[in-house]
Amino acid sequence: MDQTMKTSTKAVQIGVGKDATGAMSFPIYQNATFAHPAFGQSTGYDYSRSGNPTRKVLEEGIALLDGGVRGFAYSSGMAAITNLLLLFKQGDHLVVTEDLYGGTFRVIDKVFVKYGLEATYVDTSDPDAVARAIRENTRAILLEAPTNPLLKVADIRKISDMAREKGVLTIVDNTFMTPYLMQPLALGADIVVYSATKFISGHNDVLAGLVVVKDEELGKQVYFLQNSVGAVLGPQDCWLVIRGMKTLGVRIDRQLENAQTIAEWLSRQPGVRRVYYPGLQTDPGNRLLREQARGFGAMVSFEVADRCIAEKVLAKVKLISFAESLGGVETLITYPAFQTHTDMDPTERERMGINDRLLRLSVGIEDAGDLLADLEQALKEAKEDS
Ligand SMILES: *Cc1c(COP(=O)(O)O)cnc(C)c1O
Repeated sequence: MDQTMKTSTKAVQIGVGKDATGAMSFPIYQNATFAHPAFGQSTGYDYSRSGNPTRKVLEEGIALLDGGVRGFAYSSGMAAITNLLLLFKQGDHLVVTEDLYGGTFRVIDKVFVKYGLEATYVDTSDPDAVARAIRENTRAILLEAPTNPLLKVADIRKISDMAREKGVLTIVDNTFMTPYLMQPLALGADIVVYSATKFISGHNDVLAGLVVVKDEELGKQVYFLQNSVGAVLGPQDCWLVIRGMKTLGVRIDRQLENAQTIAEWLSRQPGVRRVYYPGLQTDPGNRLLREQARGFGAMVSFEVADRCIAEKVLAKVKLISFAESLGGVETLITYPAFQTHTDMDPTERERMGINDRLLRLSVGIEDAGDLLADLEQALKEAKEDS
């Protein structure tokens, strides 16, 4: 495919022209093993854990979108992140974004800690804090930008420059942005990881994880781990992710537009104490994200007056669903302190701002007016009830 084409075009074209029959939708190779033409020969496929044609289309597709040399598909975002953490060994140290995805915190803090992997959690929107946290045994910086749920923005270029000088890898969890909005490898990162369950597949119908690496050497290491551990994405789910990715550009365009409208509206509501959305001029991440991405994403967090109102809002929304997860075409609302971030120490959580007044929206593709009307009635009813 023409490398100069835009990301949205590349996404639509994933799998097109790749099957000998001319099938526009690349087939699902629902298959575990492949016959050898002769001793010592292979069709390129031997066993589906090691490689599967449908998975290959997805893996090559995400590598192309992110401008990397190789892509990998896993059974979930957590499987992808776990695979990357296996690049490290006992005594290695990571610098990690402090308000990161709760599951990533849990796997580092409760699982990998048992194998002697060390981690320091810092506010990665402050490059000096990142620099101070780097030690002799630091092997990688794991960033989320914007973070979850406070949407703080890290300077990926600055941090990866600093990391490279010290021989430290930069890994970016780009789930919130997708390659359509931000391409961390072009900013200097070494590895990009996704929960493709979210914006990439976009329909709340599949769990998947993706990894893209910037060079062959990392590609070899990650492939060895993918094949050794085996948390690969099955062919049916690969097909669902490919199908979802075709509409990445149009979905995200609409989601951005809706998110901007909602964030601006929320910031005018007297019952809303604070709005976190990097697309707001007043947001601390606005300028930086403008430089390193081509949009601000579709996650909007906001604080109401107290816990009672927060709980009522969740009960009163009608069009918007009270559900975990994010990135799908349907608008969802969650309560980070009690759902996605329950594994964090409560005082730490409170210090960061993930308090019992904070709600997080994942904005979908519905009509913006309908979404505003739902939020308006929910906020009003919640206030009257409490
Ligand atoms: C959901 C999510 C993950 C984990 O992905 P799963 O597909 O749920 O395993 C990791 N990082 C971020 C930012 C996420 O939102």
